[in-house]
Amino acid sequence: MAPQLDAYFKEVDSMSDHFIERLRKAVAIPSVSAEDERRPEVVKMGKWLAAELKSLGAHVELRELGKQPHKEHLDLPPVVVARYGNDTKKRTILVYGHYDVQPALMEDGWATEPFELTVDNKGRMYGRGSTDDKGPVLGWLNAIEAHQKAGVEFPVNLLMCFEGMEEYGSEGLDDFIKAEAKKFFKDADAVCISDNYWLGTEKPCLTYGLRGCSYYSIEISGPGQDLHSGVFGGTAQEPMTDLVRVMSSLVDTDGKIQIAGIDDLVAPLTDDEQALYGDIAFTMDNLYESLGSTTGIYPDKERTLMGRWRYPSLSLHGIEGAFSAPGAKTVIPAKVIGKFSIRTVPNMEIDAVNELVYKHVNAAFKALGSKNTCKCFLQHAGKWWVASPKHWNFTAAGKAVERVWGVKPDLTREGGSIPVTLTFEQATGKNVLLLPMGSSTDAAHSINEKLDRRNYIEGIKLLGAYLHYVAEEPMSEA
Ligand SMILES: [Zn+2]
Repeated sequence: MAPQLDAYFKEVDSMSDHFIERLRKAVAIPSVSAEDERRPEVVKMGKWLAAELKSLGAHVELRELGKQPHKEHLDLPPVVVARYGNDTKKRTILVYGHYDVQPALMEDGWATEPFELTVDNKGRMYGRGSTDDKGPVLGWLNAIEAHQKAGVEFPVNLLMCFEGMEEYGSEGLDDFIKAEAKKFFKDADAVCISDNYWLGTEKPCLTYGLRGCSYYSIEISGPGQDLHSGVFGGTAQEPMTDLVRVMSSLVDTDGKIQIAGIDDLVAPLTDDEQALYGDIAFTMDNLYESLGSTTGIYPDKERTLMGRWRYPSLSLHGIEGAFSAPGAKTVIPAKVIGKFSIRTVPNMEIDAVNELVYKHVNAAFKALGSKNTCKCFLQHAGKWWVASPKHWNFTAAGKAVERVWGVKPDLTREGGSIPVTLTFEQATGKNVLLLPMGSSTDAAHSINEKLDRRNYIEGIKLLGAYLHYVAEEPMSEA
């Protein structure tokens, strides 16, 4: 299988310094999408990426997305779309990544200049965007170049979609993907996104699911203005008392959601799915280390991972309008807004969840017999995503992992969301695979973000190997 891979791998090894230089150039462009004054740097990064792709012989287009909503003085950075190869006998794979980064300042606590790639003696390559997501994006370019240098035929047609607003809500991208699904992206047979992380540091994974999120507010009001408890305590019904009682009815100490009917919406656990959990490289100590405590809910790894990935959770986030400063202010807040969210999983439809939440909150408030007013509403909702890990897109990636890393990958889900995943699936109707390059300790979004040299170089091999296996894999739509 895929006999040309040895020559390709050898070329990647011999070009590794060149690939690290390419990453160094990319990290040096501070393409922070959240900072208005750095918008020209984001655009510069998009143009740099387009030029690199052109020099590799790809067809490249910079697509403008117009003005930024709510910041009309700013143009959104362009989406870089590209095509490498145009052979109708080959499969076509669409890949996505982003070239913008999170903000980073030395004062935040970085040990090295965030926009200078700094490689330490353990091969850790520090720099903003190294792992999220410039390393993986350049991985695709490096894979193309190593094929050319090695004289190995590129196994697929590659469609690329690299955006510059991911760290700021992917403004404008959903409509773009929907519009291009039947145009620029129309030949895509499957989609691959490299923009997440291994569960740990040693074992690679393929990710096939993400939870959704529905975020709610409960607003309770009564008095016309804030009151003094020395004067009005004991004479007026207090909104804060009602809110705390309603919020406390939502979930218990073990994270069990108390809203009637929620459990019935959750897809039952099948034997096939259960079997995926046993081998996953994860321990309770991993959990305790990342928690910074031993206050986990479940004693075992399987149920803990299921709690994060395949069951819903409800978190209480805060109360707007409540007294939260240090000290002992004797205020009675006149209006308070409690915030909570539910991480949703298959088969919880957004509308069905809303209905149960409103019913529960209204009943819980009614039971208090309060004269105050209670309103519950949805702030925003994003849907969960789950793909079949038996699809050829996944089995091909699994073979590539085994070839490069010598182990079968863990099949993982994530507790959070990557909204573009669902957009690609819905717009193209094709299977989407999340194929991470970096590891759990890379500190994406945090200070001292890094990508290990090993993950980068082996990751380039992995992306290339994936394309070879995906070209050979029987197209069973399992
Ligand atoms: Zn990212």
